[in-house]
Amino acid sequence: MRTPLRIAVLSLHTCPLSRPGVGDAGGMNVYIRETVRVMASQGVLVDVFTRSHGDADEDVWLGAGCRLVHVDAGPPDTAKDDLIPWLETLAQGVREFAQSHGGAYDGVLSHYWLSGLVGARLRETWRCPHVAGLHTLALAKARAFPLEAAPPRRVEGERLVVREADLLLAATEHDRDVLIADYQADASRIVIAPPAVDTGRFAPRDRADCRRRLGLPVSGQHLLFVGRTIPLKGIDVLLEALSLMDPAVSALIVGGELGGREHESLRTVARRLGVAEQVTLVGSVPHEYLPLYYGASDVCVVPSYYESYGMVALEALACGRPVVASKVGGLVAVVDDGVNGFLVTAGSAEELAKALTTLLGDRDLRDSLGSAGVESVRHRRWEQTAETILSRLADTSGAAHRPIEEPLAVPRS
Ligand code: UDP
Repeated sequence: MRTPLRIAVLSLHTCPLSRPGVGDAGGMNVYIRETVRVMASQGVLVDVFTRSHGDADEDVWLGAGCRLVHVDAGPPDTAKDDLIPWLETLAQGVREFAQSHGGAYDGVLSHYWLSGLVGARLRETWRCPHVAGLHTLALAKARAFPLEAAPPRRVEGERLVVREADLLLAATEHDRDVLIADYQADASRIVIAPPAVDTGRFAPRDRADCRRRLGLPVSGQHLLFVGRTIPLKGIDVLLEALSLMDPAVSALIVGGELGGREHESLRTVARRLGVAEQVTLVGSVPHEYLPLYYGASDVCVVPSYYESYGMVALEALACGRPVVASKVGGLVAVVDDGVNGFLVTAGSAEELAKALTTLLGDRDLRDSLGSAGVESVRHRRWEQTAETILSRLADTSGAAHRPIEEPLAVPRS
């Protein structure tokens, strides 16, 4: 393999620079930003490709040796579900950029199944290894949250990527098991590269000071939710739990678009449950300011019906705040029940209210779980995640190129 290593990172349906917490942008955007930052700091030349999504899509340097490149394909406002007809155009755009900027890459690292399908094509063009991160898998999500059925095209696309990629990223052992059981992935090709947390940024802070800076009352108890305000996140369960608790407790909901449709429906649920006065819809907060919100809170709540990982739980723990989370997916690998927080049955407002009431009623318990939380995540470093991916990529490039077994058929649009 060449030195320095040159890799192409595909984040085609969402720009890594989009603000997490709004629209499709969330944990995956943070994962991409952090891993490419570390890779570039280690001397790897990284080009991150995303689809052009507006007028001001200039290519930018994300850091020394790390560029963000926009590829034109389809009208800028094309929804991710309508991108399939544009995948070949995207692949061609990446090929053309490569031709005029140094030629073939040593590896392709794709995120989400749509990018995975493009990654499979580029792997053939450049005869280099393809590492695919599918992130939340449609079949696992649909099993946990049947209200949203798994779109057949997505499942078909995920299966193709699982079959074609040289390596598959899994966030946790649970994720690996889903890849094997539901997608018949070859276990030897799976790399567990869990999300991490920047403990320089996410660290304990004085609660009263954080509240003052945010203009919040210094007294009183605040629960905190952080994330996209989509139904899968179970904010409705949190609101119902709130209606079963002491009415003096309030909840800050960070994420989503202020005044948008998702907020409107949360407001309706809060009014119906009689907790509207206790709930503040903050909207999305830039990632770098989030530590103030974690710091201002007493407990962080992750009431999701499903999470392949749950980076918010990790960030809250790093900030010394206990987490009450649903016992689902990757959250089980982050929250240690009774040690740094509590795990409750997903969808059970009663269990959630009970765990929260216990914690809010016991300052010593909150403090001891909070301190244990800081310790429990200290080792979860982005450097480790990036190194895990790079070292497996390096091993794979040494092996003979495994040809695609059959022509790549893209799911019909
Ligand atoms: N996030 C943010 N600002 C917001 C809401 C969320 O920066 O207003 C970030 C949050 O800090 C976390 C990510 O978005 O890093 C959400 O990741 P998670 O794994 O919890 O959920 P996902 O979006 O992957 O479902």
